[in-house]
Parts: sequence; structure tokens; C-alpha cells
Amino acid sequence: MDFSNYSSIQASLLNGTTSCVSVVNHFLSNIEKQKHLNAFLEVFDQEAIERAKMLDAKTGDKGKLYGMVIALKDNICYKNHKVSASSKILENYISIYSSTVVERLLCEDAIIIGRTNCDEFAMGSSNENSAYGNVLNALDNKKVPGGSSGGSAVAVQADMCILSLGSDTGGSIRQPASFCGLVGYKPSYGLVSRYGLIAYGSSFDQIGPFSKNIEDTRLLMHVISGADEHDATMLQKNISFDKTAVNTKTKIAYIKDTIYNDALEPQVREKTIALLEKLKADGHELEAVGFDYMDYLIPAYYVLSTAEASSNLSRFDGVHYGYRSTNAQNMDQVYTKSRTEGFGKEVKNRIMLGTFVLSSGYYDAYYGKAQKLRRLLTDNINQIFSKYDYLIMPTSPTTAFEFDAKGDDPVAMYLADIFTVLSNLTGTPAISLPLFKSNENNMPIGIQLMSKKYSDASLLDFSEYFIEQYQEK
Ligand code: GLN
Repeated sequence: MDFSNYSSIQASLLNGTTSCVSVVNHFLSNIEKQKHLNAFLEVFDQEAIERAKMLDAKTGDKGKLYGMVIALKDNICYKNHKVSASSKILENYISIYSSTVVERLLCEDAIIIGRTNCDEFAMGSSNENSAYGNVLNALDNKKVPGGSSGGSAVAVQADMCILSLGSDTGGSIRQPASFCGLVGYKPSYGLVSRYGLIAYGSSFDQIGPFSKNIEDTRLLMHVISGADEHDATMLQKNISFDKTAVNTKTKIAYIKDTIYNDALEPQVREKTIALLEKLKADGHELEAVGFDYMDYLIPAYYVLSTAEASSNLSRFDGVHYGYRSTNAQNMDQVYTKSRTEGFGKEVKNRIMLGTFVLSSGYYDAYYGKAQKLRRLLTDNINQIFSKYDYLIMPTSPTTAFEFDAKGDDPVAMYLADIFTVLSNLTGTPAISLPLFKSNENNMPIGIQLMSKKYSDASLLDFSEYFIEQYQEK
């Protein structure tokens, strides 16, 4: 049985050669052996075993995810379980309801094995902003796993579960997938319900999976996607994730600056260029497209996402949820001290930045401008996808970097997202595929494919073909 592939596990479960309990025990023992990676904030071990027993005893129809062992990023609510967004301000907070994704997973007989470490409130690119310590990249423990969904990435990378869920506001699934050598997929905005996801930037956030193959991704999407009355921003019809035939002669666009930009590690550039040449040789139509907004992507993303974050995080006030300062003498101090003591540095930076860009004197100059830019980007992307099937680029300019590599310079860290924020700004689907390894440091290099909004099913089908065809053996 191949533990990296759900269909292989499912076949063994259904023909009785293994049981849900032994599958769960396999992953629990991997978690135990690799505690030093700090991927999990909490393991639901007893509960997972109980659920596995219940599933083993189940007669009749089995759910689509029968026995699938899944980990949740610590910003996805699961009723009667702790959820902290890796923040001290929500330490010991227990969710009173389950997110729609969790409801749907449980309905199809999945087993939730624990909650994973991440950057505080999903803000970061290296998992160094968690209040509960760094997550280590399993391939090289001196290196970051990427962020913000670093724990979810490492949980799959180090075989601690079959699949995990993360959230992606500006790259938090794709960039760690690239750093850890996994498939990481951000669905089109509006395909997966955000109900029960602790909000960071509501017009950007999407939940999506980390996996080792497209088949598992597709099956999961089948279950978690689709309209939900609790999320008014969703597409109101369901799209099918059934596999269809792949067009092997496609039109693919690339933006020159994503390959020749100085920020690229040489190996990332070389492997990407070699891939583009192969694609051409295989009969795909490949063209460089003009794109004038590269330098504005990061500023627009950080103005808009911090504006939304400053508003979303105002609910953590020491009264409604979680941590309350014990040093407060009056009501004002309850708010200020609880927030001062409860939030970490990066979260405070962003609340201040977001509050500033929304303030009446600067609103037009920053927030209004960034909104206009978002519109231009969307028009530009729509134009690209009216002519081309896919847009291709490296997921990240670099491979996984070392801890503290970016020092105290938040802007250096923000540039790690230069290629991922575009799809969140425009609502389009994007996926990072583990195609290469750097010859310099042996770390994974992910390639990102983007496509038209809601063309997710064909993006996944093409990605499967792409991995078969172009993954370095
Ligand atoms: N790294 C980006 C940030 O810090 C993206 C985060 C995310 O997608 N949640 O905002």
C-alpha cells in the first residue's frame, strides 16, 4: 500500500487488507517520531482512533473520503476543538461551531488528525511569525517550510497525514508547497466556503489542499467546493471536478519579468527556462505577454490585505474572544493591553498599516488607488486568459531560505510573495507543482500555473498531465 496516495489506501481499506485504525496509527507514529518539526499544535490522537474504530465498524455505503487522514491549519474552526490562528490572543479558545469544509469532510468519512502550526493569523511567508515556534522544513531542518501554512505543508511532506488544508490569501498554500516539494492549490475565489475560516483578508482568502498528487486534490475539491448559504461571496453554482481529456497542445503565456527578474535564484531561472523550451518543443504555443504592473503587485496586495485585516482583527479585543489582560485598570486598558500583549509583532505591524491606509486623510491616496489597481490587474488578467489557456511562472523566486535570513526587514520577506499575490488579487485559480530540485542545494522548486477564473477543473487535469510529463525524475 502506498501511503502517499489516497486511492491506494482506499482500495486497501475497501478490500479489507488494512483498517482505518491501522492507517491512523501509521500516521500517529510518524507524527510522534517527528515532533521536532513542530508541524502540529495539537494532535487529536484518541479522537482519531475512536473515529477510525467507528468507521471500521461501519456497514453499508462508505463516504468518498472514507479513512482519509487530514490535518487542518489552525485557522479553520472545528466544533469543540481549540483554534488559535497560532496567536497568543486565541490561546485556549475553543470553537463553538465547525467550518463548512470540516462539516463536509466529516460527512464523507474523513478523519481529522490535528491542527497545524502556521504564521499568526496567516500573516507571513516563513512560519517564523507563529506564537508557538518555528516549523522546520523536513528536507533541511535549517530551512523554513514557507508560510503561512507551514505546518500543513510539513505535515504532508513528512508523511504525518495524507492530505492537509491550508488557507491562501497571498500565496500561503502555494509558496510552502513549493518550498516543501508538494502540490499546493488555491481555488478560484468563491469556490470553497470561507465560513469558519478565521478571516485575514476576506476578499482574498481561500481554503485549499496540500497533497502529493492531483488525484487526491481533485477528490478533495469534489467534497469541499460548492455553494454554501453561509458564505455570500461564493459562486452560486457547483462546478464539476470530474476528470476530462486534456488538451496537450495549449497556448501558454509567460511574463518575462517573472523569469529574468534579478530576485530569482539562478537555478529557479534555469529550470524554468528549460521547461519553457521543452513545452515549445512539445508543440505548445508559448508567448511572452506584456504586463506593466509587476512592481505594483506587492504594494497593492499589502495595502488591501492589511486594510481588510485591520478591520477583521478588531474583534479580538479582550472581550469577545480569547486572551484578556490581567493588568487592565479600566475598559480602555482592557482593549489596549489585551491587544498589546496578545498580538505578535507582525500582526501589529499590519493592523497599523491597514488602519493607516484606511484613515480619512490617506484613504484615496492608498486604499482607493490600490482598489483601482486591482481592477486594472483583473482586466489585464482577463485579457491574457481570453487569448491563452495558462499563465506559467515559478511559484517563488527562491527555494526555501534559512531561518532569520530576512532579518527584521519585512519588505524583504514580502517579496517572497511576488509571484503568488496576482491570483489572489484577481480571484483566479493557481497551483504550485513540484517539478524540480535545485542542483545547488537539492531543495524543491515549484512551478505555478494560473488559469481563468472558475476553470479550476481543467487546471487540475492539465496539472496532472504536466507533472507526468515534466517532473524531473
Ligand atoms: N505571505 C503572505 C502574507 O504574509 C501571504 C499570506 C497568506 O496567503 N495567508 O500576507
